[in-house]
Amino acid sequence: MKKGDIILICVILCLGLAGFFLVRSMNHEDGGTLTVTVDGQVYETYDLDEDQEVSLDVDGWHNHFQIKDGVVSMTEADCPDQYCVKHSAITKVNETIICLPHKMVLEITGGSQERDIDG
Ligand SMILES: [Zn+2]
Repeated sequence: MKKGDIILICVILCLGLAGFFLVRSMNHEDGGTLTVTVDGQVYETYDLDEDQEVSLDVDGWHNHFQIKDGVVSMTEADCPDQYCVKHSAITKVNETIICLPHKMVLEITGGSQERDIDG
């Protein structure tokens, strides 16, 4: 086997693996739910399939986040540390954006199955 052949096989293997993980991660996001928790209580849940802008005004504070193409990001907050706004967007199950001063957690939870149990 020539050196070039080995490199070619490696490239094909890598592409195959990359494709496999890509498909897996895409399936992972399917039908996900964003759960917003405030002070340990579930405040609201949102469907990740639906693009939306959400403003939350609770107890005198303000947070604004958006859901776009299944990606959740905090776009605005009046908390002092701004940590949640600087946080990178989340897309996968169990990823969270936490706003500590507001005791608020944005967490992507499982798909429709979990919601069915809730209902
Ligand atoms: Zn914050």
